[in-house]
Amino acid sequence: MTTENVAAPINAWQVAQRQFDLAAEMLNLDSGLRRVLREPRRELTVHFPVHMDDGSVQVFTGYRVQHNLGRGPAKGGIRYHQDVTLDEVKALAMWMTWKCAVVGIPYGGGKGGVVVDPKKLSKKELEGLSRRFFTEISVLVGPERDIPAPDVNTTPQIMAWFMDTYSMHAGYTVPGVVTGKPISLGGSEGRNEATARGAVYTIVKAAAHLGLDLKKAKVAVQGYGNAGSIAAQLMRDEGGTIVAVSDSTGGIRNMAGLDPDKVLAWKKEHGTVQGFPGSEDISNAELLETECDVLIPAAYENQITIRNADKVKAKIVAEAANGPTTPEADEILHRRGVFMIPDILCNAGGVTVSYFEWVQDLNRDHWTEADVNAKLKVIMEKAFGEVLALSEQHRVNMRTGAYLNAVQRVADATAMRGLYP
Ligand code: NAD
Repeated sequence: MTTENVAAPINAWQVAQRQFDLAAEMLNLDSGLRRVLREPRRELTVHFPVHMDDGSVQVFTGYRVQHNLGRGPAKGGIRYHQDVTLDEVKALAMWMTWKCAVVGIPYGGGKGGVVVDPKKLSKKELEGLSRRFFTEISVLVGPERDIPAPDVNTTPQIMAWFMDTYSMHAGYTVPGVVTGKPISLGGSEGRNEATARGAVYTIVKAAAHLGLDLKKAKVAVQGYGNAGSIAAQLMRDEGGTIVAVSDSTGGIRNMAGLDPDKVLAWKKEHGTVQGFPGSEDISNAELLETECDVLIPAAYENQITIRNADKVKAKIVAEAANGPTTPEADEILHRRGVFMIPDILCNAGGVTVSYFEWVQDLNRDHWTEADVNAKLKVIMEKAFGEVLALSEQHRVNMRTGAYLNAVQRVADATAMRGLYP
């Protein structure tokens, strides 16, 4: 049934709850457990002051949400964006719970965000905002309790400020309080590339399953930041042709192929992918409808909707971004035979290598990049195989297969722990 209202904005939290409801129904989950897992465990809203360069004081709003702690401490990134809302952070926190369960790492789900356009801040203002925000949420975070990481617009430098702020309060260095740190501060080799690398491991498995030759595949990527630009480079390394990419300013297309390294250099120089020599400028809507075999949404939520799902030409949609496809669009894609690699599986490489970073920090250890990538491959391929098997067994799409796997694991852990007191 199609219920998405074409005119109304799509609320990510409602989407997340509907995805959960579907899985809970199929698993015939106990009604009490359903009520517990349907809501976040903790939601913290903070309003905090920052000294601006012009001498004024501005107050910013931020959030940290812990969805479920049944399988371990909360884990999830912090996003800086002018459109961040509590509902968005709640959705992202819930998706983190399922993501950690899908890949079998011992974490619950959390997420954070600050309502800010960081491009409008100086470096000093950004540091002040980051340090004060982390101080405000330190009532929740800690290496055994809740471990943040990068997300949209947050960088290894910001993770370094977070770690230093927490360590100053503790009186000693606590590298395990955040992941995605610079390598020199206890960051892991391979973390920067991990989200994209994990996504590409799943795309390779999906292509093998479908009998699609990646050397002949045309690839389109929406979003040219950490996840998108590295996914484009790695897909090129697999032999694919990158035919279109985009960022917040719009997209570019060249059906004969774009060089992802040169596009990245162009974006760094000009602040946009548009105008790249030899390509035609296109809109983000056109990017999603581009003739291609693999479409990688790597930007934001709610990009493939009831409005455009019929026009997606790709055989594989690999969700490097969180929540890019609405439930109604999922149904349309499934009906049309598009193979979906859902976000909670596809982009789980980021949190998996964050987990590796945390383990290395707690053990005062440092692994080689080859070790990290090899361990990541094992985890991603195992998770892909489990989700594919469940989706075939229940004759459902891969998203539902991933949810069946994840929700069952979290429900089992929650039920085994029992209800306190
Ligand atoms: P990023 O800030 O590095 O990049 C985001 C990119 O999206 C930028 O190129 C930006 O210009 C572009 N963009 C913004 N608005 C857009 C629009 N309307 N249309 C097209 N492009 C647009 O962020 P990132 O870390 O690469 O995260 C991207 C997505 O991947 C998010 O959904 C994030 O939650 C998800 N993700 C990231 C990680 C990680 O480790 N970085 C892990 C898991 C999931």
